Amino acid sequence: MNQISMPSPLEELIEPLRMTNQSTSVFIETLVISGSKIAATDREKEFIIWLAQKDQNVIGRGVVGFNIEEMPWIEDDFPEMKSFMLECIRGVINKLQWELLNDEPNEQWIKDTFEHFGTMIELFEEKFVNAENYIEWSTPDEGDDHPTIPRGYPKCAEHSVYLSCFGCLICNSNKGMNFK
Ligand SMILES: [Zn+2]
Repeated sequence: MNQISMPSPLEELIEPLRMTNQSTSVFIETLVISGSKIAATDREKEFIIWLAQKDQNVIGRGVVGFNIEEMPWIEDDFPEMKSFMLECIRGVINKLQWELLNDEPNEQWIKDTFEHFGTMIELFEEKFVNAENYIEWSTPDEGDDHPTIPRGYPKCAEHSVYLSCFGCLICNSNKGMNFK
């Protein structure tokens, strides 16, 4: 089980999003393939790479939940990034790039789940942004050959999704399926 939650002062506005590990993989994969198609600026690509790191095939099942405030927000472009996330969410609901997935997700589940997530993003307020999270996440350690944000924002040649420091989310998922 993984949970996506709001900052505590906003908790009473909306339920957290709780998902099984399997559903979480579908959630992240559909969001990353949609966002990889839509992202144009470096900051937009960073948001997608941040999400692509929530790769249960690499870091383990049930450990990829997050709080909305942990996303790589900064004050400077808060409205723009909020709009970008909402556009990616609409992309998922409109099945953007679903041909890249092995299994067709349940349409109704996708709609319900992403409408819920979209409301969470809409309700999230700039005053809860802590740019320290972004700085800590994005600043490479000295001499690190595998920075958190791969240099030049490479995409998977096969799946056209942005690579995280763990590689391609879809390739990793396909490999993981062989172990089942
Ligand atoms: Zn791939």
